[in-house]
Amino acid sequence: MPVPCSTHCGKNAVLKRPKTGCALCKECFFVAFETEVHDTIVKGQLFREGQHVAIGASGGKDSTVLAYVLRTLNVRYNYGLQLTLLSIDEGITGYRDDSLEMVKKNRDEYGLPLKILSYKDLYGWTMDAIVQEVGRRSNCTYCGVFRRGALERGAALLKADVIATGHNADDMAETVIMNIMRGDVARLHRCCDTITKDTSQQSSDSPSSSNDGLDIPRVKPLRYCYEKEIVLYAHYAKLPYFSTECTFSPLAYRGHARTYLKDLERLRPSVIMDIIHSGEFLQVGVVQQLPSRGHCKRCGQISSAAGGICKACLLLDSLNQGKPKVSLESDSANLDDTQEISGATNPEEIKTLTGSKSTPINNELPTNKIGRVKPHGIDW
Ligand code: SF4
Ligand SMILES: [Zn+2]
Ligand SMILES: [Zn+2]
Repeated sequence: MPVPCSTHCGKNAVLKRPKTGCALCKECFFVAFETEVHDTIVKGQLFREGQHVAIGASGGKDSTVLAYVLRTLNVRYNYGLQLTLLSIDEGITGYRDDSLEMVKKNRDEYGLPLKILSYKDLYGWTMDAIVQEVGRRSNCTYCGVFRRGALERGAALLKADVIATGHNADDMAETVIMNIMRGDVARLHRCCDTITKDTSQQSSDSPSSSNDGLDIPRVKPLRYCYEKEIVLYAHYAKLPYFSTECTFSPLAYRGHARTYLKDLERLRPSVIMDIIHSGEFLQVGVVQQLPSRGHCKRCGQISSAAGGICKACLLLDSLNQGKPKVSLESDSANLDDTQEISGATNPEEIKTLTGSKSTPINNELPTNKIGRVKPHGIDW
């Protein structure tokens, strides 16, 4: 028995929205999904007319839908944005090489320029080689730190004003739960910020501004979109995406938060939005201060590490000196390879990574920006 679309458009529904429970036809679902993203952009003041937006593109569902919807809305609502796909090639055979082929398809189909930066070019190491060196336990720590720097440099090379990533509502809720489980009050305080920026310099909830040379603002236009709806959108819009998990994906801490969230969602479908709203309106009495930031003395990227050497340079040192296992094992509690790497660097985390011999990160590229990473095989 066909169910009529709940908007009374006259068509039959083809799906029940996971977010609202409404029965909708395909066209009305597209309108509802895209309008919600538009509302997120407008209410959060994510962009300003004329800005250049670097879209973190992995070839996965989230970034594929993000690129498609941003391109659509940019035309529909005359945002006046310049959009560019920005991909990072970590050098993971059978994973990133294949997913990048998907990004290239998106480039051709959407008519968007694409910039690809590789770990090999930036750091002299592929993730395949790093895993050979460090094993499977700490690989995501390296990958996350390096990707963050690579995204930042890519955006700086493009002279982008904003980095847009494909984090969805499920990711946001997982991050809130993870920060609660870790007791990480400082990150809990800011993990739901509309715009992520160098908090030591500017309020993170202020409107995005043109690149001020500190670091590039990062926004998440899909922050209120359920993962299930992103999959449905990609399916009905016939958007091809790469869905294989990273070869080196660990049993991430995030995975436990995800399982917990899915269990909760079965009991209470609105729990994802409820948790995000809790994170957004959370009042933290005494905010644990993140370390103040400066520029890494070696590569020039934003760093909060004591001694002025950024985490990427320290990790690179440990690799080049052939002693990453020793360095990380002695600090495994802090450098949990399931941890999402965020803007702060706890000097204690990397206290054993200091070394005398250093190989500078390729400094031919702009180095004064910081990107956001989403490690552990989660589409960014
Ligand atoms: S799971 Fe993610 S962070 Fe870990 S190695 Fe793979 S791509 Fe890198
Ligand atoms: Zn309809
Ligand atoms: Zn550095």
